[in-house]
Amino acid sequence: STQVQLVSRPSGWPTPEDFRTVTVDLPDLGPDEVRVQNEFVSVDPYMRGRMNDAKSYAPPYALGETMTGGAVGRVTASTSPALPVGSLVVHGLGWRDVAQGPAAQFRQVAEVPGAPNSVHLGILGMTGLTAYVGLTAIAGLREGETVFVSGAAGAVGTAVGQIARLLGAGRVLGSAGSAEKVALLTDRYGYDAAVNYKDAPIREQLPAIAPDGVDVFFDNVGGDHLEAAVDVFNPHGRAALCGAISGYNDVERPAGPDNLWHLVSKKLTLRGFIVGDHAELSAEFGEKVAGWFTAGQVVFDETVVDGIENSVEAFLTMMRGGNTGKMVVRV
Ligand code: NDP
Repeated sequence: STQVQLVSRPSGWPTPEDFRTVTVDLPDLGPDEVRVQNEFVSVDPYMRGRMNDAKSYAPPYALGETMTGGAVGRVTASTSPALPVGSLVVHGLGWRDVAQGPAAQFRQVAEVPGAPNSVHLGILGMTGLTAYVGLTAIAGLREGETVFVSGAAGAVGTAVGQIARLLGAGRVLGSAGSAEKVALLTDRYGYDAAVNYKDAPIREQLPAIAPDGVDVFFDNVGGDHLEAAVDVFNPHGRAALCGAISGYNDVERPAGPDNLWHLVSKKLTLRGFIVGDHAELSAEFGEKVAGWFTAGQVVFDETVVDGIENSVEAFLTMMRGGNTGKMVVRV
């Protein structure tokens, strides 16, 4: 099996030298185990946090060991009656071409006609669920409300815009880091208006597209975007604090938002969340979003990088904004 390992802890932006690609011999299967040929492996922003030796909701990656993360693949050998050869499975042993382990660690998923199996890592998988949980359970989106989404052209953000629309949002606003992405937000992902946060400070641009304020803020970026959202919040606004990617490679402590007084004056609710704590919504999500998906009401995009040995480059390209929609590695 070809596998990518972390060999040193990055300070600031990771570099290829922080990783190595190795070939590992896999043992024979034990009882109730499967071997899986991965088709796609996921690269995700949270992985940057796990490269640090710091306590968080997920433990740090161990040095000298193979990276882990979401993946979808096909069972090629099995001693498990539950997962025969040929089963399509989602699991957590990414960053390698062949994965192997106890059958209980692999979850069978259905093939979706007309869609690549990577949809189980994106719109119909973890990032789609994140969008749904954030809008519903965390932010309590109500019909007619105005939603603002940061990081809107990424895997989570492209799902948030569309799902917000399908849940009856009034106006859906977004920001992203290029003119092409901004055009896609309004042309393809259900956004009514969008801005490129690289054109001018988001704090200066947001009021123009949110003349009637914002009721729900879905934050993937943090920092300047959180500050800008607090400015335009309507009374009783709610934020689903999903991520803060603008700071993930910071070495120095960034200056905090200077307008948090409005949390009080506008009686706001800002709630952080981790999608993994909301398994109770995954059946509902699966039903609803798969229905919308089949009916052609949600679209998805992917940026695909070929070759497991290019996983690190794929991760870094995603962190820099080189992806639109879900970034995956095709094995
Ligand atoms: P994306 O597909 O959105 O990829 C990351 C994107 O972040 C890039 O494409 C880039 O787009 C943008 N970005 C990078 N740096 C900055 C910056 N300084 N300011 C603004 N945007 C930046 O990744 P995901 O959809 O997988 O994840 C999005 C967010 O959601 C992340 O913060 C992640 O940690 C979080 N998340 C949280 C979960 C939870 O359970 N709470 C679960 C899953 C994800 P651009 O070109 O627009 O800059």
